[in-house]
Amino acid sequence: MAGLYTQDSIERLRQAVDMVDLVGAKTDLRRVGSRWVGLCPFHEERTPSFSVDAEKRVYYCFGCEAGGDAIGFVRETEALDFPEAVELLADRYGVELAREAEDPRAEERRRRQERLRALLERAARFYATYLWDSAEAQKARAYLLGRGLGEEVLRAFRVGYAPSAPDRVALSAQRDGFRPEELIAADLARRGRGGGLYDRFRGRITFPLADGRGRVLGFGARAMGEGRGPKYLNTAESELFHKGRQLFGIDLARSHTAKAGRIVVVEGYTDVLALHQAGLRESVAIMGTALTEDQLRELERSAPLVVLALDADRSGMNAMLRAVRSAGERGTELRVVEMPEGEDPADMLAANGVEAFSGRVERAVSVLEFQVRRVLADADLDTPAGRDRALEEARALISATPVRSATRDHLVRIAADRLDVPADYVGANLAASPHSGDPAAAAAPRAPGSAALAAERAFLALCLGGGATGRAYLERLGDGHLSSIAARRARDHLLAHFDDPLADLPPDDRDAAALLTGVAAEAAEQEAGTSEAVLQVSFLQLELRRIDREIRQAKHEGDLARQDSLAGAKQDVRRELDSVMGQTA
Ligand SMILES: [Zn+2]
Repeated sequence: MAGLYTQDSIERLRQAVDMVDLVGAKTDLRRVGSRWVGLCPFHEERTPSFSVDAEKRVYYCFGCEAGGDAIGFVRETEALDFPEAVELLADRYGVELAREAEDPRAEERRRRQERLRALLERAARFYATYLWDSAEAQKARAYLLGRGLGEEVLRAFRVGYAPSAPDRVALSAQRDGFRPEELIAADLARRGRGGGLYDRFRGRITFPLADGRGRVLGFGARAMGEGRGPKYLNTAESELFHKGRQLFGIDLARSHTAKAGRIVVVEGYTDVLALHQAGLRESVAIMGTALTEDQLRELERSAPLVVLALDADRSGMNAMLRAVRSAGERGTELRVVEMPEGEDPADMLAANGVEAFSGRVERAVSVLEFQVRRVLADADLDTPAGRDRALEEARALISATPVRSATRDHLVRIAADRLDVPADYVGANLAASPHSGDPAAAAAPRAPGSAALAAERAFLALCLGGGATGRAYLERLGDGHLSSIAARRARDHLLAHFDDPLADLPPDDRDAAALLTGVAAEAAEQEAGTSEAVLQVSFLQLELRRIDREIRQAKHEGDLARQDSLAGAKQDVRRELDSVMGQTA
């Protein structure tokens, strides 16, 4: 999507933003010298480590290392993608965005979609007004309020009521200049046998289905009376609406997921409303579908932890397993809440208050543990044959965990306790599956990377603060010294913008942008005049890390000669390091 708006208009936008105003809406800032500091909106803390440079228009947190420019800030706090964040800021600071030249067909499609969205937005407004103002909707209001939902949350979600008259929406939209064909394309109306238009939704409570930016794309509609078609009716698949991508409530949940660090997925519209009302605002719903890849990707964009509080039977184990596998590959953590049978979150909240539900969310387990627990819960414990069957099923699941891991040990103990057999029976001779389904296991080998990243950031900061000598060291830094693509991009950026490192931050690489603002912030904190010895030591340490990585690679490939020569090189670097340390000591 890069290139959607001209570079020039993005730059004008960056200059127009008031960083203190923008960030100040999320956390209180006070002035300290040339910077503004406050509590970090990205992690919990008691003493402020978050700072904003109003002049350079960047932010950085010394605690969690979040950092970037205004666009990055909006992306993180509102969980928006780049063009979405740009559009939100342009709206807020009154900047006119210029689009890159579009081909005429793409432009035509965009204009058409804008018209359809305007039509849907108009319908959402009409339904919402009708719910509160019409006599006809009295029963619907009573039903919703009777479920414990307050007017405030119903209005926030723009819940509405579609009149039972045959064509109220179709007629008034046409009076406002919309064509019948557009009403049909948005699935707000259909053609009857006589050729006339009738409204798609009649005599139903309406729930607008919006995208992350709050743009209405369709509706879910619940019947009020008996014998009037299905209980729930959705907008049909269309050029605008795709049920498998939709997450109800995502527009309102997004700004809460960053702080919560998680997103909670439930089944129904009223569940989401009840949870928001109870303060669990990081909740969304999938609507009567099994969780799709598209939905999962959207969830992952919103938070690093996705908690599923679904009816496991309906959603289907296979769909969940697929989901967990792809989530594991991308590093998202997926957990499952054990829900009491036949109860949805809205019921639980009404009966036992929010604590009962949020307690379950806190105790959510990995998908694998959830499956093991289900096998054990379903087992026929009264016969040895039943216990053997459960034992075999549990063993098959547990074999997906790495050998000698805490995860495996934990699951073995659960199974052994429940089946009342020695742990050996469960754990013996289990193979390690190459396709581990457990995201916790997949995430484990990533931990050492953060130490490398910290060393790399510290070195880049030393270079930046080290004048001409620092620059010379920066030039010596090869790809092999840096453990991530983001770090390599940061190095390239620093070489190109050594005197003004925060200019032109890469718009499409949040990791690199965060690293660069971190490096600049660290460099600014340094005492003037880094000694060359410090740079040298720091460089040699990166050199050691590089050699270690290559040794691991050579071991992996079984290349003995290369392992030998690398071991020699490592000795040399060690010696050099000793001698420099000797001088500085
Ligand atoms: Zn922070």
